Formats: sequence, C-alpha cells, structure tokens
Amino acid sequence: MLKELIDKFYLEREKEKKKKEKERVRFFISEAGKCPRMIFFRFKKAPAEEIEPERLRIFEEGEIIQQRILRLLFSLGIVRATEVQIPPQELVAGRADAIISFTDKTFSDLGIDLKEKIEPGIPYVLEIKSVSGKINLKKLPLPDHINQLQLYLHFFKIKKGILLYLNKDTQKITEFIFEYDKNLVEKILNWFLKLKEKIEADLVPIRLPDWPDNWQCQNCEFFEICKIAGEREISWEKLKKEIEKGEILS
Ligand code: SF4
Repeated sequence: MLKELIDKFYLEREKEKKKKEKERVRFFISEAGKCPRMIFFRFKKAPAEEIEPERLRIFEEGEIIQQRILRLLFSLGIVRATEVQIPPQELVAGRADAIISFTDKTFSDLGIDLKEKIEPGIPYVLEIKSVSGKINLKKLPLPDHINQLQLYLHFFKIKKGILLYLNKDTQKITEFIFEYDKNLVEKILNWFLKLKEKIEADLVPIRLPDWPDNWQCQNCEFFEICKIAGEREISWEKLKKEIEKGEILS
C-alpha cells in the first residue's frame, strides 16, 4: 500500500531527472577510476535497467548525511565554502563537498589534543562519504574516493584534503588526510583522456576483468547489455544492432 506509493514516487522522480539530463560532454570527477564501459554507456545513453527504489533511497540518505555533517562543521566556524564547483574546463566537471580551514585555536579551545598534524590557516578540501556497516573498514579509503579528492586538490590548487567516512549503521566516523599527489593526478587525467578517445571513436571499452563479481557489476544498470557486448572491445554500432536483435529494453 504505502510501499507502492513511496516506491512509485522515487521511480518517477528518477525518470524525470533522467529526462532532463543533457548530452554528456564531460566526465564527472566521481567517475575517476570507475568501470570505463559503464561510463561509455552513460555517455551514449545506452538502454539502462531501472534503478530499484531501495537504491535511490540509499543515494538520498548519503546526501542527507553529508548535509548533517556540514551543518555541524558550519556551527564550528571552520567551513569556508560548500558545494564548490571546479573551474570550468573541457575534460571533467565536479563539485567538492566543502573547503574548510582551521585556526591554531580550533582544537585547543575545545580541549582537544590532536594526534594528527594540522596546518592552521591553509584550506583543506573536504569530501564526505557514507558507507554501509557491511564494508570492511580495512578497505577504506576506497581508491575511487582518493582519485576524486586528488582531482579536487588539483583543480582548486589546494595542497591538502580530508576524506571523511560515516558508517550509516554504526555512526562511526573514520577520516584520512591526503597531500596533493601530482603523479597520481596525471595518471587519472590520462585515463580520462584515453576513455574520451574511445567515446569519440564509438568503441565500447573492454569489460572489467573480474566481471560479474566486481562490486560495480553487482549494481550496474547496464549489466544486460554488457553481457551481450562480451568481454572484448566492440564497436558501438555493432552492439546497438545486437541489442535490437535481442529486443532488450527500449
Ligand atoms: S556490468 Fe560490470 S563490466 Fe559491465 S558495464 Fe557494468 S560495471 Fe562495467
């Protein structure tokens, strides 16, 4: 009864959002290091399976958690800006959750004896992530999140950043501080450039080597067409014909 109503609301809202999506010309920073084939399909607006309402609510919860933490940090007076867009350029687009900074009294005034070394006065990029209790904490920080943070540091020309994780089930917070890593950023930007070439050449990239076990495959809205494409690189035109033959999705 109510379940159906609520689920319908989420599904319709998602459909509307997708309808309004413009033609993709840039990557999102959050896509750095993700499955290239999945990103290719997103650019081409390939037939996608419907995202379950449960997952849509999980995404929404992540945003609510982020807002909660930012409100709290605002009240401590350490937030300089939120939802900060990177300077416009051709390859990627994205916005960092916040830029924060500390004074030399931020911690001492609250009687906190810090173990980490914090540089007062300089800006830090802050990225907030919510994770489920099922995640193995030893796996944190996740490589995708490090990539994302490093790109923000690069585009904002900021030396340091913080990845803050909140476990949704235990409410435990874990954080990691990073310095700007020029070599890693160069690798990520090259990775994007190579993928851009494939998109422009209409070549569907190879699938992930650990398909279908990779966590990205488990939640992938393109799983069915990825299966049809097979493991190797394939031309997008050819795949579209295969999809039509199999009458999969619309
Ligand atoms: S199913 Fe896996 S390999 Fe295929 S597009 Fe999705 S994430 Fe990539």
